[in-house]
Amino acid sequence: MTPATEVPIRTLSDGVDIPQVGLGVWQVPDDDAAAAVRTAITAGYRSIDTAAAYNNEGGVGDGLRSSGVPREELFVTTKLWNSEQGFDAAAEAFHASLDRLGLDYVDLYLIHWPTPARDRYVDTWRAFVALRAEGLVRSIGVSNFQPTHLRRLVDETGVTPTVNQVELHPRFQQAELRAVHAELGIATEAWSPLGQGRSLGEPALLAVAARHGVSAAQVVLRWHLQLGTVVIPKSVTPARIVENIDLFGFELDAADMAVISALDSGTRLGPHPDEFSMA
Ligand code: NAD
Repeated sequence: MTPATEVPIRTLSDGVDIPQVGLGVWQVPDDDAAAAVRTAITAGYRSIDTAAAYNNEGGVGDGLRSSGVPREELFVTTKLWNSEQGFDAAAEAFHASLDRLGLDYVDLYLIHWPTPARDRYVDTWRAFVALRAEGLVRSIGVSNFQPTHLRRLVDETGVTPTVNQVELHPRFQQAELRAVHAELGIATEAWSPLGQGRSLGEPALLAVAARHGVSAAQVVLRWHLQLGTVVIPKSVTPARIVENIDLFGFELDAADMAVISALDSGTRLGPHPDEFSMA
């Protein structure tokens, strides 16, 4: 087990601390979510990433409460779904998420997708700013925002998101977007950090893994950590949950980092954020 104290902390631009490794629970059924969350917390995780659209906020809340770890030591992220964008709808949807989670506040609330075709993300953002002012959310951020969307939020509201959670893995490394994040002081959080497991058989990765006596998944997650990215790998398999946070007994050197950088093919697994507007 990895002691929770070994997981690096990143301090966001508003002073809130986020653990650099968390558990993602997309596609985890509500009935399985509590067990996955408890297993993760026992293994040393303190951060859980869910969303209204994952339909498992109830199970996540049960797992958090039954873990025995005090609420203030946990970091809970959830996200606003596309159909709930707009000032009033966002506030209402937030309270529904809070009820399902059974919490008094969340640590990080994200706009799940910009859905530019709806053109409501600026008003939605104003609702997020109000939720933070009410003390119901410690930190506010976005997900799947492109540079134009980020700049528009900053220009029109004066409030910069603390986090942008985006698709990021060895085959899709997002160098340009990461540079914009660095310029604006936004932390990069990687979704599908393992590329959904699809590229873990890559011979170059396996060679680095063999050299360090770890798995390809651990190499990829360590690469993210050394880039400064926050990661939220998903698993419901206890041995993998444990493996995915056991990242602190080895270090990648510049040659290893270069091997992984060379795997970038610019290939997305998910939809393009400019086009995605599923309700
Ligand atoms: P991931 O990259 O975390 O891959 C998860 C899959 O990789 C697992 O289902 C399993 O098949 C495999 N895997 C996990 N650990 C492994 C290990 N140690 N060895 C071998 N295989 C392993 O993919 P993901 O679930 O798409 O992304 C992680 C989290 O990111 C999600 O659970 C969710 O919380 C978040 N997410 C957010 C968005 C968004 O739009 N904001 C989109 C997708 C995912």
